[in-house]
Amino acid sequence: MEEVVIVGGGIAGLAMALALKKVGVRALVLERSKGLRATGAALGLYPNAWVALEALGVSNELASLYAPSDKGYVTNVQTRSIQEVRFSPNDGSGGPLPRVVHRKVLLKVLAKELPPDSIRFSSNITSVETQEERGSPVCIVTLDDGSTIKSKVIIGCDGVNSIVARWLGLSPPAYSGRSLALGLSVYPEGHGFERGVIHQFVDVGKRAGFITLDDKDVYWFCEVMDPHKEKRVDPEMILREVSEYLTKDFPPVYLDILRHSDRSSLTWAPLVYRYPWDVLFGKLAQSNITVAGDAMHPMTPELGQGGCSSLEDAVVLARHFGDSISKHGGLVTQDIRFAIDKYIKERRLRATTLIAASFISGWLQTNGSGRLMKFLRDIVFYKLLFTFVFRMTRYDCGKLPSASFMSSRGSESST
Ligand SMILES: Cc1cc2nc3c(=O)[nH]c(=O)nc-3n(C[C@H](O)[C@H](O)[C@H](O)COP(=O)(O)OP(=O)(O)OC[C@H]3O[C@@H](n4cnc5c(N)ncnc54)[C@H](O)[C@@H]3O)c2cc1C
Repeated sequence: MEEVVIVGGGIAGLAMALALKKVGVRALVLERSKGLRATGAALGLYPNAWVALEALGVSNELASLYAPSDKGYVTNVQTRSIQEVRFSPNDGSGGPLPRVVHRKVLLKVLAKELPPDSIRFSSNITSVETQEERGSPVCIVTLDDGSTIKSKVIIGCDGVNSIVARWLGLSPPAYSGRSLALGLSVYPEGHGFERGVIHQFVDVGKRAGFITLDDKDVYWFCEVMDPHKEKRVDPEMILREVSEYLTKDFPPVYLDILRHSDRSSLTWAPLVYRYPWDVLFGKLAQSNITVAGDAMHPMTPELGQGGCSSLEDAVVLARHFGDSISKHGGLVTQDIRFAIDKYIKERRLRATTLIAASFISGWLQTNGSGRLMKFLRDIVFYKLLFTFVFRMTRYDCGKLPSASFMSSRGSESST
């Protein structure tokens, strides 16, 4: 009998296992891939992610590798006008700045903090269920080889097509009508761009951008209205479509970056999200089974919040488990559901807001050619709403009590 089984070893699953370790709970991560899997070359981690990574004890290591971004430039491709956007708060309150990191590096940093044998690769879960045993709920996962594992808790961190979310009765994610191509460009002799500056180019029905990762790697993306939801996998086709069709009129600097693309890093992702009302009113837990990360709140990536909020989820759930442990001296089956309910209560509105804000900001940035849309994008979004939207990324998910502190509290309370 395991204490906690986590289905999926992506950002949410690994962060969850590490957060639980911090409060003294051992978790087994079941990941269907053969090793750490990172689709997409890089991701932006905003201030809320750095607060969560700090609670997980890995922020310094990651931050030392990547430059912070305190500003960006948005170029209107048609008028060539350029707006500057700032990521540091105007009120001088400080706090962490966004950084863009290699996905694989983030996963490795999280995984290496876990106890040996806590990730089991090539473990594809086909179903979950609960049973009563001696008056207590027992959670069971079944793997594709027919074997089963029992645990006190199951946390579904199995991404957008989550089996656990389906078991809870959550609706499948909906297509947003937009797709995003992305890749990594490599300059072995150095790219020479200023570190940490995010450049964006906006045009009718499409938006593209780039940012440096280190001295040699540049991360680029191109988002486009795409009613057909076609999945493209051939890297040469993706590159041709982006450079010769979607962004052929974009500034030469962007096209040069595309030419330097590492073909193996190219991805074309149809962007999906869960309807906000499904997260607001849906069943996010049943018995001792719940979800986190994309399994709970798939969202479009315009605010770069899917991964960041997955890190928040991990800290919040572990904090509530930690509170329960410090009260009882261990993970008591009867109290687990209470802790999960508190987690859901804390996450529901936050996740709903992020899904809605991400969808709307993507719609404003990529939609339509009319004057109204241009006004909404250039004036309403970038000049007025941007600061408000960016404030959402300054969310503090709290800290984690350390396991040693809790075991001493536990022994105090049990004496
Ligand atoms: C194009 C794009 C750009 C993005 N950019 C950003 C960004 O800049 N910043 C940001 O914060 N977020 C960004 N996101 C969102 C971010 O990628 C996701 O929110 C994040 O990866 C979610 O992590 P996860 O662990 O929940 O899911 P995943 O990363 O999908 O991991 C799920 C894991 O579960 C495993 N799994 C699935 N099913 C099973 C099963 N049955 N059994 C066992 N294992 C299973 C999978 O193999 C996988 O490893 C972006 C998303 C996209 C599509």
